[in-house]
Amino acid sequence: MDQIIVEDLQVYAYHGVYQKENEEGQNFYVSVTLDTDTRDAGLADDLELSTNYGEVCRFLYSFLREHTYKLIETAAEKCAEALLLQFPRVRQVALELKKPEAPITIPFGSVSVRIVRGWRRAYIACGSNMGDREAHLDAGVCALREDPKCRVLRVSGWMETTPYGGVEQGDFLNGAFSVETLYTPEELLEVLQGIERSENRERKERWGPRTLDLDILLYEGTVMDTERLIIPHRDMKNRDFVLKPLAQIAPYEIHPVLGKAIVELLEEVETDGEKHVLSN
Ligand code: ATP
Ligand code: CA
Ligand code: CA
Repeated sequence: MDQIIVEDLQVYAYHGVYQKENEEGQNFYVSVTLDTDTRDAGLADDLELSTNYGEVCRFLYSFLREHTYKLIETAAEKCAEALLLQFPRVRQVALELKKPEAPITIPFGSVSVRIVRGWRRAYIACGSNMGDREAHLDAGVCALREDPKCRVLRVSGWMETTPYGGVEQGDFLNGAFSVETLYTPEELLEVLQGIERSENRERKERWGPRTLDLDILLYEGTVMDTERLIIPHRDMKNRDFVLKPLAQIAPYEIHPVLGKAIVELLEEVETDGEKHVLSN
């Protein structure tokens, strides 16, 4: 992707662990590389279509002066997040914050922190089979729309489906939607579980009835398997009620482990697997 680069913007600020640093201040130097598409602006010669690097510099300057953190790690983290929220065309930022006057008693050139943060695309499955099922699914999407660290992109239709996993219970309404998010996978799971709780989800038995279930299906090509989180969702390939709505919004997205497009996986489960989708 195209990049806009600012190097070593000087900011006199007050970050530091020591009181003296917070009171007297020192020079910091911040560099950013912004991933952003410059094609339209470049062809039209129109600043409105680009990210104004002058504004970026003023933003960085004000941000680093108006906040005071103990760690440059924190200053870098907060600054990168604020930039991504402020400048909608920027997909990713690499930010380096240097502190060449840091209180170290041995001569040194500079110390710095360098981080890369950006909007990551995730696909989320939603399901409900208790109460006003449609309202629960809508509330799930709505909660993410209201979260500044998520941008909801596409939402599938809600589909009537029969239960999976053998527990006797009412039919489900299932769907899927895509987001761009600043959350890591673990943070996103926590946010989704918070939304489930706010819809009065109770965790009793696995695959039992629930007001709202929100599962992470895919997260930007990530493959992970920890105690809390498995991505891609472990069982998605066996579930037509997941793949069918997902195929509506992302038919050619590739499953990073199976190496197949969502439409292919759907076709396989529709041919050989269990059928749960009743309608859409
Ligand atoms: P299934 O995961 O088979 O669809 P479920 O959604 O009914 O079953 P839950 O009771 O909602 O299961 O979640 C159980 C645990 O699964 C969660 O606490 C979470 O830590 C873990 N988990 C692992 N991978 C994922 C994922 N990709 N998305 C959501 N939860 C996950
Ligand atoms: Ca689930
Ligand atoms: Ca779940």
